[in-house]
Amino acid sequence: MSDFVADLVKQVKPSATIAVSMKAAELKRAGKDVIGLGAGEPDFDTPEHIKAAAIEAIQAGQTKYTAVDGTPELKQAIIGKLMRENHVSYQPEELLVSCGAKHSIFNLLNAVINPGDEVVIPTPYWVSYPDMTLLAGGQAVIVETTADHAFKLTAAQLAAAITPNTKLVMLNSPSNPTGKAYTQAELKALGEVIKAHPQVLVATDDIYEHIYWGQEPLGNLVALLPELRERVIIINGVSKAYAMTGWRIGFAAGPAPIITAMRKIQSQSTSNPCSISQAAATAAYNGPQDCLLTMKAAFKERHDYLVAALNELPGVQCGEGNGAFYAFPNVTGVIAQLAEVEDDVALSTWLLEHAGVAVVPGTPFGAPGYVRLSFATSIEVLQDAMQRMEQALRPHFA
Ligand code: PMP
Ligand code: GLU
Repeated sequence: MSDFVADLVKQVKPSATIAVSMKAAELKRAGKDVIGLGAGEPDFDTPEHIKAAAIEAIQAGQTKYTAVDGTPELKQAIIGKLMRENHVSYQPEELLVSCGAKHSIFNLLNAVINPGDEVVIPTPYWVSYPDMTLLAGGQAVIVETTADHAFKLTAAQLAAAITPNTKLVMLNSPSNPTGKAYTQAELKALGEVIKAHPQVLVATDDIYEHIYWGQEPLGNLVALLPELRERVIIINGVSKAYAMTGWRIGFAAGPAPIITAMRKIQSQSTSNPCSISQAAATAAYNGPQDCLLTMKAAFKERHDYLVAALNELPGVQCGEGNGAFYAFPNVTGVIAQLAEVEDDVALSTWLLEHAGVAVVPGTPFGAPGYVRLSFATSIEVLQDAMQRMEQALRPHFA
């Protein structure tokens, strides 16, 4: 049989985070007793006032195509959000609403990457950045960060990674998978490095900005260094903050020429994002914001429990995060102890088989020796998972 699949696509890996969540769901459907800590999505329901806005939109007949780049109402709501929360001012032509922040990043890479252009991606990275770069014809330049520096890219590391071919730097804060966030000073220092290289753009993936409990307020690169405004693309959306993963609404805010190029790609691919979801997202940004605090408090409580519990497990070391909903422990002590387990990928399979707990291995995040556990689930479920892992691991450390 002929092989019809394009060469480029053969080099791309399927999303590991989605693969683990799907595998856990499949095992559960088959009647297996599995706790899924793979999924990166809030367990909360979308707040009622947001759902009501969607129902209203359906009843009002908002069921047709919208403008490719988003409804004027949603764009105004995003402009309000960016001003209110991030202290940056954007015009409608500097915004593109897409089918999730993931789609925004995909559009961005395809809009700016020429063959062979380099995209600087610090480890541990969200699994999709390198493969999306590859699909856009770019070259991922992976820069390894260390646990000693809270898995954050330093200005010196960034300066050393930039070459004449560098087109884009990907920043994600708070980070998936580490939960660490850049301080304003750190972000500014990275921005200063970028300032010196006029050919370099920066994407700041801020999707976890509302799930953050660090000391100082989160910084926004455009607010901190307005002179970089024409080279920064802010990526954000409603998925994580408002528990709206299934609605698929994200956005990019950036310089008009880049946004126009992204809109062109979108006009030839998905057209507009779902009209009903856009009405819901408008209500999310314009409506009461107390739901953000309730969810954040729950995530913080779960974080505190899970990090402490992980550090009680033999062979496991886990640092504290200050945002997102993932714990990212070092599991090299476990790998060294289990004869049949050679790495984090094998350990994840082992944990699924021996403890009935689904976690994502660190390797697809560019961090072998680690695993990612999502704490976007109740404390009771987390307690059950920790008990199972303790029971499975302890005998091997006797
Ligand atoms: N960036 C990061 C770091 C993420 O974890 C996610 C979650 N899937 C996204 C972007 C995309 O979010 P969405 O497409 O659901 O808006
Ligand atoms: N961002 C989430 C995660 O990392 C959702 C899955 C995905 O889009 O990769 O698990």
